[in-house]
Amino acid sequence: MKVTVIGTGYVGLVTGACLAEMGNHVVCLDVDERKIRVLQDGGIPIHEPGLEAIVQRNAAMGRLQFTTDVAQAVAHGTLQFIGVGTPPGEDGSADLQHVLSAARSIGAHMTDYKVIVDKSTVPVGTADRVREAVAQELARRGVDVAYAVVSNPEFLKEGAAVGDFMRPDRIIVGADDERAVLLMRALYASFTRNHERLQLMDVRSAEFTKYAANAMLATRISFMNELALLAEKVGADIDMVRRGIGSDPRIGTHFLYAGAGYGGSCFPKDVKALVRTGQEYGVKLRVLEAVEEANDLQKHVLGRKVVEHFGEDLAGRTFALWGLAFKPDTDDMREAPSLVVVDDLVRRGARVQAYDPVATEQAQVALKGVPGVSFVDSAQAALAGADALVIVTEWREFRSPDFDAMRAALKQPLVIDGRNLFEPALLKAHGLEYVAIGRSQAN
Ligand code: NAD
Repeated sequence: MKVTVIGTGYVGLVTGACLAEMGNHVVCLDVDERKIRVLQDGGIPIHEPGLEAIVQRNAAMGRLQFTTDVAQAVAHGTLQFIGVGTPPGEDGSADLQHVLSAARSIGAHMTDYKVIVDKSTVPVGTADRVREAVAQELARRGVDVAYAVVSNPEFLKEGAAVGDFMRPDRIIVGADDERAVLLMRALYASFTRNHERLQLMDVRSAEFTKYAANAMLATRISFMNELALLAEKVGADIDMVRRGIGSDPRIGTHFLYAGAGYGGSCFPKDVKALVRTGQEYGVKLRVLEAVEEANDLQKHVLGRKVVEHFGEDLAGRTFALWGLAFKPDTDDMREAPSLVVVDDLVRRGARVQAYDPVATEQAQVALKGVPGVSFVDSAQAALAGADALVIVTEWREFRSPDFDAMRAALKQPLVIDGRNLFEPALLKAHGLEYVAIGRSQAN
Protein backbone atom coordinates (compact mmCIF):
# COMPACT_ATOMS: atom_id res chain seq x y z
CA MET A 1 0.00 0.00 0.00
CA LYS A 2 1.05 3.59 -0.44
CA VAL A 3 1.48 5.40 2.85
CA THR A 4 2.52 8.92 3.79
CA VAL A 5 3.61 9.72 7.31
CA ILE A 6 3.57 13.38 8.31
CA GLY A 7 5.96 14.04 11.19
CA THR A 8 9.11 11.95 11.34
CA GLY A 9 9.78 11.88 15.08
CA TYR A 10 9.75 8.98 17.53
CA VAL A 11 6.29 7.86 16.44
CA GLY A 12 6.33 8.87 12.77
CA LEU A 13 9.70 7.36 11.95
CA VAL A 14 8.92 4.07 13.69
CA THR A 15 5.52 3.93 11.99
CA GLY A 16 6.97 4.68 8.57
CA ALA A 17 9.88 2.26 8.93
CA CYS A 18 7.77 -0.61 10.27
CA LEU A 19 5.09 -0.17 7.62
CA ALA A 20 7.82 -0.21 4.95
CA GLU A 21 9.27 -3.35 6.54
CA MET A 22 5.96 -5.08 5.77
CA GLY A 23 6.30 -4.20 2.10
CA ASN A 24 4.38 -0.94 1.97
CA HIS A 25 5.73 2.05 0.09
CA VAL A 26 6.18 4.86 2.56
CA VAL A 27 7.06 8.52 2.24
CA CYS A 28 7.96 10.30 5.48
CA LEU A 29 7.50 14.06 5.55
CA ASP A 30 8.86 16.52 8.09
CA VAL A 31 9.23 20.27 8.32
CA ASP A 32 12.57 19.80 10.07
CA GLU A 33 15.06 19.95 7.21
CA ARG A 34 17.97 18.77 9.35
CA LYS A 35 16.11 15.63 10.36
CA ILE A 36 15.21 14.80 6.78
CA ARG A 37 18.77 15.45 5.59
CA VAL A 38 20.16 13.07 8.23
CA LEU A 39 17.69 10.38 7.11
CA GLN A 40 18.35 10.94 3.42
CA ASP A 41 22.09 10.58 4.15
CA GLY A 42 21.47 7.16 5.70
CA GLY A 43 21.62 8.33 9.32
CA ILE A 44 19.01 8.35 12.04
CA PRO A 45 18.12 11.41 14.14
CA ILE A 46 16.97 9.57 17.29
CA HIS A 47 18.17 6.71 19.44
CA GLU A 48 15.75 3.81 19.21
CA PRO A 49 17.07 0.23 19.44
CA GLY A 50 16.70 -1.74 16.20
CA LEU A 51 15.30 1.17 14.20
CA GLU A 52 18.39 2.17 12.24
CA ALA A 53 18.73 -1.22 10.52
CA ILE A 54 15.07 -1.21 9.45
CA VAL A 55 15.30 2.35 8.17
CA GLN A 56 18.45 1.64 6.20
CA ARG A 57 17.19 -1.67 4.76
CA ASN A 58 13.90 -0.22 3.58
CA ALA A 59 15.45 2.98 2.29
CA ALA A 60 17.90 0.87 0.28
CA MET A 61 15.00 -1.15 -1.14
CA GLY A 62 13.32 2.08 -2.20
CA ARG A 63 10.29 1.46 0.03
CA LEU A 64 11.06 4.26 2.47
CA GLN A 65 11.68 7.82 1.38
CA PHE A 66 12.14 11.05 3.26
CA THR A 67 11.15 14.48 2.08
CA THR A 68 10.26 18.02 3.09
CA ASP A 69 8.20 18.40 -0.08
CA VAL A 70 4.58 18.57 1.07
CA ALA A 71 3.00 18.26 -2.38
CA GLN A 72 5.05 15.17 -3.22
CA ALA A 73 4.31 13.55 0.13
CA VAL A 74 0.58 14.18 -0.01
CA ALA A 75 0.35 12.96 -3.60
CA HIS A 76 1.98 9.65 -2.60
CA GLY A 77 -0.16 7.92 0.02
CA THR A 78 -3.74 6.76 0.01
CA LEU A 79 -3.21 6.56 3.75
CA GLN A 80 -1.96 9.81 5.28
CA PHE A 81 -0.73 9.31 8.83
CA ILE A 82 -0.42 12.38 11.02
CA GLY A 83 2.30 11.73 13.62
CA VAL A 84 3.32 15.28 14.54
CA GLY A 85 3.85 16.52 18.09
CA THR A 86 0.99 17.60 20.35
CA PRO A 87 2.79 19.42 23.16
CA PRO A 88 0.92 20.92 26.08
CA GLY A 89 -0.40 24.43 25.54
CA GLU A 90 -0.25 27.07 28.28
CA ASP A 91 -3.46 25.86 29.90
CA GLY A 92 -2.40 22.20 29.80
CA SER A 93 -4.59 21.30 26.83
CA ALA A 94 -2.98 19.57 23.84
CA ASP A 95 -1.66 22.12 21.36
CA LEU A 96 -3.13 21.03 18.04
CA GLN A 97 -1.40 23.56 15.79
CA HIS A 98 0.89 20.96 14.17
CA VAL A 99 -1.94 18.46 13.68
CA LEU A 100 -4.16 21.07 12.06
CA SER A 101 -1.30 22.37 9.95
CA ALA A 102 -0.68 18.80 8.70
CA ALA A 103 -4.41 18.49 7.97
CA ARG A 104 -4.35 21.73 5.98
CA SER A 105 -1.33 20.49 4.03
CA ILE A 106 -3.28 17.39 3.04
CA GLY A 107 -6.34 19.44 2.07
CA ALA A 108 -4.19 21.84 0.08
CA HIS A 109 -2.65 19.14 -2.12
CA MET A 110 -4.88 16.05 -2.28
CA THR A 111 -6.39 15.12 -5.60
CA ASP A 112 -7.80 11.65 -4.87
CA TYR A 113 -9.41 9.69 -2.01
CA LYS A 114 -7.38 9.79 1.20
CA VAL A 115 -7.70 8.17 4.56
CA ILE A 116 -6.30 10.65 7.06
CA VAL A 117 -5.11 8.78 10.11
CA ASP A 118 -4.64 10.66 13.39
CA LYS A 119 -1.78 8.79 15.05
CA SER A 120 -0.71 11.68 17.24
CA THR A 121 -2.28 11.66 20.69
CA VAL A 122 -5.17 14.10 20.34
CA PRO A 123 -8.14 15.04 22.50
CA VAL A 124 -11.61 13.71 21.86
CA GLY A 125 -13.17 15.64 19.03
CA THR A 126 -9.93 16.33 17.14
CA ALA A 127 -10.93 14.14 14.19
CA ASP A 128 -13.83 16.56 13.60
CA ARG A 129 -11.41 19.50 13.60
CA VAL A 130 -9.09 17.69 11.19
CA ARG A 131 -12.06 16.94 8.92
CA GLU A 132 -13.03 20.62 9.01
CA ALA A 133 -9.49 21.84 8.30
CA VAL A 134 -9.28 19.59 5.24
CA ALA A 135 -12.75 20.66 4.09
CA GLN A 136 -11.78 24.33 4.32
CA GLU A 137 -8.71 23.79 2.14
CA LEU A 138 -10.71 21.84 -0.42
CA ALA A 139 -13.35 24.58 -0.47
CA ARG A 140 -10.64 27.20 -0.88
CA ARG A 141 -9.33 25.29 -3.90
CA GLY A 142 -12.88 24.80 -5.17
CA VAL A 143 -12.45 21.04 -5.49
CA ASP A 144 -14.48 18.15 -4.12
CA VAL A 145 -12.43 15.08 -3.18
CA ALA A 146 -13.63 12.31 -0.88
CA TYR A 147 -11.70 11.51 2.29
CA ALA A 148 -12.13 9.89 5.69
CA VAL A 149 -10.59 10.78 9.04
CA VAL A 150 -9.65 7.87 11.26
CA SER A 151 -8.25 7.75 14.79
CA ASN A 152 -5.42 5.25 15.29
CA PRO A 153 -3.61 6.20 18.48
CA GLU A 154 -0.12 4.82 19.00
CA PHE A 155 0.88 2.80 22.07
CA LEU A 156 4.57 2.19 21.39
CA LYS A 157 7.09 2.72 24.17
CA GLU A 158 10.28 4.59 23.41
CA GLY A 159 13.19 2.20 23.89
CA ALA A 160 11.07 -0.75 22.72
CA ALA A 161 9.23 1.01 19.91
CA VAL A 162 10.07 -1.33 17.05
CA GLY A 163 8.96 -4.45 18.94
CA ASP A 164 5.83 -2.69 20.14
CA PHE A 165 4.92 -1.62 16.62
CA MET A 166 5.73 -4.96 14.99
CA ARG A 167 4.01 -7.04 17.70
CA PRO A 168 1.32 -4.79 19.16
CA ASP A 169 -0.85 -5.76 22.12
CA ARG A 170 -3.69 -4.11 20.30
CA ILE A 171 -4.35 -1.79 17.42
CA ILE A 172 -7.11 0.71 18.06
CA VAL A 173 -8.94 2.03 15.03
CA GLY A 174 -11.73 4.52 15.40
CA ALA A 175 -13.55 4.97 12.12
CA ASP A 176 -16.99 5.51 10.69
CA ASP A 177 -16.20 5.10 7.00
CA GLU A 178 -16.38 1.57 5.58
CA ARG A 179 -13.82 2.09 2.88
CA ALA A 180 -11.38 3.49 5.42
CA VAL A 181 -11.97 0.51 7.73
CA LEU A 182 -11.17 -1.92 4.91
CA LEU A 183 -7.93 -0.10 4.14
CA MET A 184 -6.89 0.06 7.80
CA ARG A 185 -7.63 -3.65 8.24
CA ALA A 186 -5.59 -4.45 5.14
CA LEU A 187 -2.68 -2.30 6.31
CA TYR A 188 -2.53 -3.90 9.74
CA ALA A 189 -3.36 -7.49 8.69
CA SER A 190 0.32 -8.41 8.57
CA PHE A 191 0.81 -7.22 12.17
CA THR A 192 -2.08 -9.28 13.52
CA ARG A 193 -1.77 -12.56 11.62
CA ASN A 194 -1.80 -14.88 14.62
CA HIS A 195 -4.25 -13.05 16.84
CA GLU A 196 -6.84 -10.54 15.83
CA ARG A 197 -5.61 -7.50 17.67
CA LEU A 198 -7.42 -4.80 15.80
CA GLN A 199 -10.17 -3.25 17.88
CA LEU A 200 -12.60 -1.27 15.84
CA MET A 201 -14.59 1.45 17.57
CA ASP A 202 -16.04 4.88 17.03
CA VAL A 203 -13.62 7.74 16.55
CA ARG A 204 -14.19 9.45 19.90
CA SER A 205 -13.73 6.27 21.90
CA ALA A 206 -10.46 5.61 20.06
CA GLU A 207 -9.21 9.12 20.84
CA PHE A 208 -10.21 8.69 24.49
CA THR A 209 -8.60 5.24 24.79
CA LYS A 210 -5.10 6.62 24.35
CA TYR A 211 -5.52 9.14 27.18
CA ALA A 212 -7.18 6.58 29.42
CA ALA A 213 -4.25 4.18 28.93
CA ASN A 214 -1.57 6.74 29.75
CA ALA A 215 -3.59 8.17 32.64
CA MET A 216 -3.93 4.69 34.15
CA LEU A 217 -0.20 3.99 33.86
CA ALA A 218 0.70 7.37 35.35
CA THR A 219 -1.76 6.73 38.17
CA ARG A 220 -0.05 3.45 39.06
CA ILE A 221 3.30 5.20 39.26
CA SER A 222 2.11 8.10 41.40
CA PHE A 223 0.21 5.66 43.60
CA MET A 224 3.36 3.66 44.28
CA ASN A 225 5.46 6.79 44.75
CA GLU A 226 3.11 8.04 47.45
CA LEU A 227 3.06 4.65 49.15
CA ALA A 228 6.87 4.71 49.01
CA LEU A 229 6.89 7.93 51.05
CA LEU A 230 4.78 6.22 53.66
CA ALA A 231 6.80 3.00 53.52
CA GLU A 232 9.89 4.94 54.55
CA LYS A 233 8.08 6.37 57.56
CA VAL A 234 6.53 3.13 58.76
CA GLY A 235 9.60 0.99 58.26
CA ALA A 236 8.48 -1.04 55.23
CA ASP A 237 10.26 -1.76 51.94
CA ILE A 238 8.21 -0.63 48.94
CA ASP A 239 10.00 -3.12 46.72
CA MET A 240 8.78 -6.00 48.89
CA VAL A 241 5.32 -4.46 48.85
CA ARG A 242 5.50 -4.17 45.05
CA ARG A 243 6.24 -7.87 44.71
CA GLY A 244 3.56 -8.70 47.23
CA ILE A 245 0.78 -6.88 45.42
CA GLY A 246 2.05 -7.47 41.87
CA SER A 247 1.55 -11.22 42.19
CA ASP A 248 -2.20 -10.62 42.39
CA PRO A 249 -3.34 -10.99 38.76
CA ARG A 250 -5.96 -8.29 39.31
CA ILE A 251 -3.09 -5.88 39.98
CA GLY A 252 -0.26 -7.31 37.87
CA THR A 253 3.43 -6.48 38.03
CA HIS A 254 3.76 -3.73 35.45
CA PHE A 255 4.22 -0.06 36.29
CA LEU A 256 4.47 -0.56 40.03
CA TYR A 257 8.00 0.71 40.49
CA ALA A 258 8.48 3.58 42.89
CA GLY A 259 11.08 6.03 41.64
CA ALA A 260 12.05 9.60 40.97
CA GLY A 261 8.83 10.45 39.13
CA TYR A 262 7.63 9.83 35.61
CA GLY A 263 8.73 12.01 32.71
CA GLY A 264 8.84 11.76 28.94
CA SER A 265 6.87 13.31 26.16
CA CYS A 266 3.63 11.49 26.94
CA PHE A 267 2.53 10.87 30.53
CA PRO A 268 2.96 14.43 31.86
CA LYS A 269 1.28 16.08 28.89
CA ASP A 270 -1.45 13.47 28.45
CA VAL A 271 -2.47 13.57 32.12
CA LYS A 272 -2.57 17.37 31.91
CA ALA A 273 -4.59 17.31 28.70
CA LEU A 274 -7.15 14.86 30.09
CA VAL A 275 -7.59 16.95 33.25
CA ARG A 276 -8.09 19.96 30.99
CA THR A 277 -10.66 18.14 28.85
CA GLY A 278 -12.48 17.27 32.07
CA GLN A 279 -12.55 20.95 33.03
CA GLU A 280 -13.89 21.89 29.61
CA TYR A 281 -16.78 19.50 30.07
CA GLY A 282 -17.37 20.34 33.74
CA VAL A 283 -16.02 17.02 35.01
CA LYS A 284 -13.38 17.37 37.71
CA LEU A 285 -10.90 14.52 37.42
CA ARG A 286 -9.73 14.53 41.04
CA VAL A 287 -7.68 11.36 40.84
CA LEU A 288 -5.69 12.60 37.87
CA GLU A 289 -5.14 16.02 39.39
CA ALA A 290 -3.57 14.26 42.36
CA VAL A 291 -1.52 11.99 40.08
CA GLU A 292 0.05 15.04 38.50
CA GLU A 293 0.64 16.83 41.78
CA ALA A 294 2.22 13.74 43.33
CA ASN A 295 4.51 13.39 40.34
CA ASP A 296 5.61 17.02 40.43
CA LEU A 297 6.60 16.53 44.06
CA GLN A 298 8.25 13.18 43.38
CA LYS A 299 10.69 14.70 40.91
CA HIS A 300 12.21 16.53 43.90
CA VAL A 301 12.60 13.40 46.01
CA LEU A 302 16.27 12.90 45.12
CA GLY A 303 17.14 16.54 45.71
CA ARG A 304 15.41 16.27 49.07
CA LYS A 305 17.38 13.19 50.04
CA VAL A 306 20.62 14.95 49.12
CA VAL A 307 19.63 17.91 51.29
CA GLU A 308 18.68 15.61 54.18
CA HIS A 309 22.20 14.27 54.03
CA PHE A 310 24.31 17.32 53.19
CA GLY A 311 22.16 20.25 54.32
CA GLU A 312 20.67 23.07 52.26
CA ASP A 313 23.98 24.61 51.25
CA LEU A 314 25.64 22.40 48.66
CA ALA A 315 28.37 24.86 47.65
CA GLY A 316 31.66 23.03 47.16
CA ARG A 317 29.90 19.66 46.74
CA THR A 318 30.04 17.56 43.60
CA PHE A 319 27.55 14.87 42.74
CA ALA A 320 27.85 12.05 40.25
CA LEU A 321 24.64 11.64 38.30
CA TRP A 322 23.90 8.39 36.50
CA GLY A 323 21.23 8.66 33.84
CA LEU A 324 19.78 11.73 32.14
CA ALA A 325 17.20 10.33 29.69
CA PHE A 326 13.68 10.12 31.07
CA LYS A 327 13.97 6.34 30.88
CA PRO A 328 16.48 3.75 29.64
CA ASP A 329 17.07 2.96 25.95
CA THR A 330 16.13 6.38 24.69
CA ASP A 331 17.83 9.72 24.21
CA ASP A 332 14.57 11.56 24.89
CA MET A 333 15.00 14.28 27.53
CA ARG A 334 11.49 15.71 27.42
CA GLU A 335 10.23 16.27 30.99
CA ALA A 336 13.03 14.05 32.30
CA PRO A 337 13.22 13.91 36.12
CA SER A 338 16.99 14.41 35.77
CA LEU A 339 16.33 18.04 34.78
CA VAL A 340 14.63 18.67 38.13
CA VAL A 341 17.33 16.79 40.04
CA VAL A 342 20.10 18.80 38.38
CA ASP A 343 18.26 22.04 39.10
CA ASP A 344 17.72 21.07 42.75
CA LEU A 345 21.46 20.45 43.13
CA VAL A 346 23.03 23.32 41.17
CA ARG A 347 20.55 25.84 42.58
CA ARG A 348 22.06 25.06 45.98
CA GLY A 349 25.59 25.56 44.69
CA ALA A 350 26.59 21.99 43.85
CA ARG A 351 28.43 20.76 40.79
CA VAL A 352 27.13 17.78 38.84
CA GLN A 353 29.17 15.23 36.86
CA ALA A 354 26.62 13.52 34.66
CA TYR A 355 26.79 10.38 32.57
CA ASP A 356 24.22 8.88 30.25
CA PRO A 357 24.91 6.14 27.70
CA VAL A 358 23.06 7.89 24.84
CA ALA A 359 21.26 11.07 25.94
CA THR A 360 24.24 13.36 26.53
CA GLU A 361 23.77 15.35 23.35
CA GLN A 362 20.07 15.95 24.03
CA ALA A 363 20.84 16.71 27.67
CA GLN A 364 23.41 19.32 26.67
CA VAL A 365 20.66 21.07 24.74
CA ALA A 366 18.11 20.71 27.55
CA LEU A 367 20.59 21.91 30.19
CA LYS A 368 22.20 24.63 28.09
CA GLY A 369 23.23 27.56 30.25
CA VAL A 370 22.79 25.67 33.52
CA PRO A 371 25.99 26.33 35.48
CA GLY A 372 27.99 23.63 37.22
CA VAL A 373 27.08 20.67 35.02
CA SER A 374 29.71 18.64 33.20
CA PHE A 375 29.16 15.58 31.05
CA VAL A 376 31.52 12.63 31.18
CA ASP A 377 31.75 9.55 29.01
CA SER A 378 31.56 6.71 31.51
CA ALA A 379 29.75 5.82 34.69
CA GLN A 380 33.04 5.42 36.53
CA ALA A 381 34.32 8.81 35.33
CA ALA A 382 31.26 10.46 36.86
CA LEU A 383 32.21 9.10 40.28
CA ALA A 384 35.70 10.60 40.42
CA GLY A 385 35.94 12.89 43.44
CA ALA A 386 32.15 13.15 43.84
CA ASP A 387 30.61 13.49 47.28
CA ALA A 388 27.93 10.95 46.43
CA LEU A 389 26.31 9.12 43.53
CA VAL A 390 22.74 9.94 42.53
CA ILE A 391 21.03 7.46 40.17
CA VAL A 392 18.19 8.87 38.09
CA THR A 393 17.69 6.49 35.13
CA GLU A 394 17.78 2.69 35.34
CA TRP A 395 20.06 1.93 32.38
CA ARG A 396 21.07 -1.74 32.29
CA GLU A 397 24.77 -0.90 32.53
CA PHE A 398 24.17 0.63 35.98
CA ARG A 399 22.69 -2.54 37.41
CA SER A 400 25.84 -4.40 38.24
CA PRO A 401 28.62 -1.89 38.87
CA ASP A 402 31.99 -2.51 40.48
CA PHE A 403 31.00 -1.46 43.99
CA ASP A 404 34.57 -1.47 45.28
CA ALA A 405 35.72 0.86 42.51
CA MET A 406 32.67 3.00 43.26
CA ARG A 407 33.58 3.19 46.92
CA ALA A 408 37.17 4.07 46.08
CA ALA A 409 36.18 6.86 43.68
CA LEU A 410 33.59 8.58 45.87
CA LYS A 411 34.63 11.05 48.58
CA GLN A 412 31.82 9.73 50.71
CA PRO A 413 30.57 6.18 50.24
CA LEU A 414 26.98 7.25 49.58
CA VAL A 415 24.59 6.08 46.85
CA ILE A 416 21.23 7.81 46.48
CA ASP A 417 19.25 5.60 44.15
CA GLY A 418 16.10 6.97 42.53
CA ARG A 419 15.31 3.64 40.81
CA ASN A 420 15.83 1.05 43.57
CA LEU A 421 18.37 -0.89 41.51
CA PHE A 422 20.17 -2.72 44.28
CA GLU A 423 19.70 -4.97 47.26
CA PRO A 424 20.45 -2.76 50.27
CA ALA A 425 22.39 -5.56 52.00
CA LEU A 426 24.75 -5.87 49.04
CA LEU A 427 25.79 -2.24 49.17
CA LYS A 428 26.19 -2.40 52.89
CA ALA A 429 28.50 -5.37 52.44
CA HIS A 430 30.64 -3.23 50.12
CA GLY A 431 30.83 -0.46 52.70
CA LEU A 432 28.42 1.84 50.86
CA GLU A 433 25.63 3.77 52.48
CA TYR A 434 22.48 3.26 50.41
CA VAL A 435 19.55 5.65 50.26
CA ALA A 436 16.74 4.46 48.01
CA ILE A 437 13.05 5.15 47.43
CA GLY A 438 10.55 3.78 49.92
CA ARG A 439 13.00 1.38 51.50
CA SER A 440 13.41 2.21 55.15
CA GLN A 441 16.10 -0.47 55.62
CA ALA A 442 18.21 1.33 53.05
CA ASN A 443 17.66 4.83 54.31
P1 NAD B 1 8.39 14.25 17.92
O1 NAD B 1 8.50 15.62 18.44
O2 NAD B 1 9.52 13.29 18.12
O3 NAD B 1 8.08 14.28 16.36
C1 NAD B 1 7.16 15.13 15.79
C2 NAD B 1 7.70 15.54 14.41
O4 NAD B 1 6.68 16.23 13.70
C3 NAD B 1 8.89 16.47 14.48
O5 NAD B 1 9.97 15.91 13.76
C4 NAD B 1 8.38 17.77 13.83
O6 NAD B 1 9.38 18.47 13.12
C5 NAD B 1 7.30 17.22 12.91
N1 NAD B 1 6.30 18.19 12.49
C6 NAD B 1 5.66 19.14 13.21
N2 NAD B 1 4.77 19.79 12.44
C7 NAD B 1 4.82 19.24 11.21
C8 NAD B 1 4.12 19.47 10.00
N3 NAD B 1 3.17 20.39 9.91
N4 NAD B 1 4.44 18.72 8.93
C9 NAD B 1 5.41 17.78 9.00
N5 NAD B 1 6.08 17.50 10.14
C10 NAD B 1 5.79 18.22 11.22
O7 NAD B 1 7.05 13.65 18.58
P2 NAD B 1 6.71 12.14 18.93
O8 NAD B 1 7.31 11.77 20.24
O9 NAD B 1 6.95 11.29 17.74
O10 NAD B 1 5.14 12.26 19.18
C11 NAD B 1 4.24 12.48 18.11
C12 NAD B 1 2.82 12.21 18.62
O11 NAD B 1 2.70 10.84 19.00
C13 NAD B 1 2.44 13.02 19.86
O12 NAD B 1 1.08 13.33 19.78
C14 NAD B 1 2.68 12.04 20.99
O13 NAD B 1 1.87 12.32 22.10
C15 NAD B 1 2.28 10.74 20.36
N6 NAD B 1 2.91 9.56 20.94
C16 NAD B 1 4.23 9.60 21.27
C17 NAD B 1 4.83 8.46 21.80
C18 NAD B 1 6.28 8.47 22.20
O14 NAD B 1 6.69 7.54 22.91
N7 NAD B 1 7.07 9.42 21.79
C19 NAD B 1 4.07 7.29 21.98
C20 NAD B 1 2.74 7.28 21.59
C21 NAD B 1 2.16 8.43 21.07
